[in-house]
Amino acid sequence: MLVDAHVHLTDREYDGMEDVVVGMLRSMDIRAVSVSMDLETAERNLVLAEKYGHIIIPFAGLHPWCVTSDGYADTLDGICSFIEANIARIKGIGEIGLDRAIASDSSSDGFKAQVRVFETMLGIAEKHSKPVSIHSRRAVDDVISILTSYNIRGVLLHWFSGSKKQLATANGRGYYVSYGPVLVYSKDKQVLLRHTDRELVLVETDGPVRYGSCFSDRTAMPSFLASVAYAFANTLDLNYGDAEALLLGNAGRYLGLNL
Ligand SMILES: [Zn+2]
Repeated sequence: MLVDAHVHLTDREYDGMEDVVVGMLRSMDIRAVSVSMDLETAERNLVLAEKYGHIIIPFAGLHPWCVTSDGYADTLDGICSFIEANIARIKGIGEIGLDRAIASDSSSDGFKAQVRVFETMLGIAEKHSKPVSIHSRRAVDDVISILTSYNIRGVLLHWFSGSKKQLATANGRGYYVSYGPVLVYSKDKQVLLRHTDRELVLVETDGPVRYGSCFSDRTAMPSFLASVAYAFANTLDLNYGDAEALLLGNAGRYLGLNL
């Protein structure tokens, strides 16, 4: 069994393909952590989990791309109320985080809004002992610095793309990092993986992202995860079975679930 640690199954890109995607998850023995962007996708994640059972591990959160500097308070209130009302069915908080590619200036209203939303989401995760799935594009240091004020039970810096130094800091604090299909064709990612604590690494697709090289610019499907796990095993000189067992143990600890 494999766990896709970060995928957006409720993205519109997968509309009309639900049966195919879920069929693939079933036949390949993959469980998927389906993260949300906003209230609407968080609601649909719960519907998916209800329909397909334990294959879907539903998360709820407000993505920094969905945070605008004006009027975000109502959006934030909406997702917070939803999470509180459904906390028993929600397995984690995400996707949440910071993105300096869309708000680079720390003093801008946009960045301040991202921080406010991120801190609120972390507060909910801490209160309910839920794991978090974090977006940290060009903001790894900011994210790590904010996290130090919270006691979160499982932290994942998904699609890790920081430096080796930032990786060492993150792993040193017990944070998980995940790698996706880029690991299959990027030497830089393979080098980063070799420097990663083996007990603190997960794999993901981040679907519906499209991947180049051998993936021919196609939307990520569950089948891509087997390629990532294979590249993971090769990079670390593990046989596939040992790699799968290692990844499953890591996913179970991160999620606090008996998988
Ligand atoms: Zn994502």
